[in-house]
Amino acid sequence: MPGPFSGVPIGEALASAQIALEGAGVDTPRLDAEILLAHALGIDRTRLMLERDTPVEGPAIRAFQIAVRRRSVERVPVAYLTGTKGFRRLELEVDPRVLIPRPDTEALVEWAVRGLPPGARVVDVGTGSGAIALALKDERPDLEVLATDVSGAALAVAEANARRLGLEVTFAEGDLLAGLDAGAVLSNPPYVETGAALAPEIAQHEPPRALFAGSDGLDVHRRLVAAIRASGARLAGLEVGAGQAAAVRALWAGEGSPWETDVGRDLAGTERVVSAWRP
Ligand code: GLN
Repeated sequence: MPGPFSGVPIGEALASAQIALEGAGVDTPRLDAEILLAHALGIDRTRLMLERDTPVEGPAIRAFQIAVRRRSVERVPVAYLTGTKGFRRLELEVDPRVLIPRPDTEALVEWAVRGLPPGARVVDVGTGSGAIALALKDERPDLEVLATDVSGAALAVAEANARRLGLEVTFAEGDLLAGLDAGAVLSNPPYVETGAALAPEIAQHEPPRALFAGSDGLDVHRRLVAAIRASGARLAGLEVGAGQAAAVRALWAGEGSPWETDVGRDLAGTERVVSAWRP
């Protein structure tokens, strides 16, 4: 059964979808329409412009219509509709079992790629899709990379990404360090204040366990810093939410603490990475 976009040129299909998405209050209607149509057609987004007069036909129309509807009505994030998200040099497979990797988190990987000593053994706590661990192994193959998650469902996604990308990372299911020993610890733990108002894409579709961490958003950071301090690790890099850096640095301080800390910013200029080390 032909739908409203049937036989319509790519340029027009994009324009109608853009209007539908804009009307639904989606932030980036043009970009989302392009990504979803390119995905439905199985072509690169950059090719859409060259093909703007080519009619959209067949199953691609149905797939595009369904995706635009789910994006506008259900507010499903684009990455869950296409099933992939770019992170550093990798294309990761994602689905609602895992948080969608954010560009902000690339700052933590950048810090680790530049700063970790050669051959270090490093663990990514709460790996989700595996983004941090896999990007790190990809860019620093000299490192021994481990990753944990409390969610077995998330670990299945991370393990599938590791296999598909041919990256050697060791995964363990469990809370925080899950009993692993490492010289360095990286983490993008949940740090959103419980009850905070979030965009429908996040609130209705992403895993709450990957987002919320108590009334000030620091419940997991408190437990994680304590676990790292009690372990043999000498170096840590933790992602923080906007405005949380000072409070997370304070978790490392205190009478006679051997730990020193610093803060790094993401590409948007927001304080994003609290690093800590001890001699
Ligand atoms: N950066 C995510 C957001 O803005 C939060 C990720 C996290 O809690 N670690 O929703």
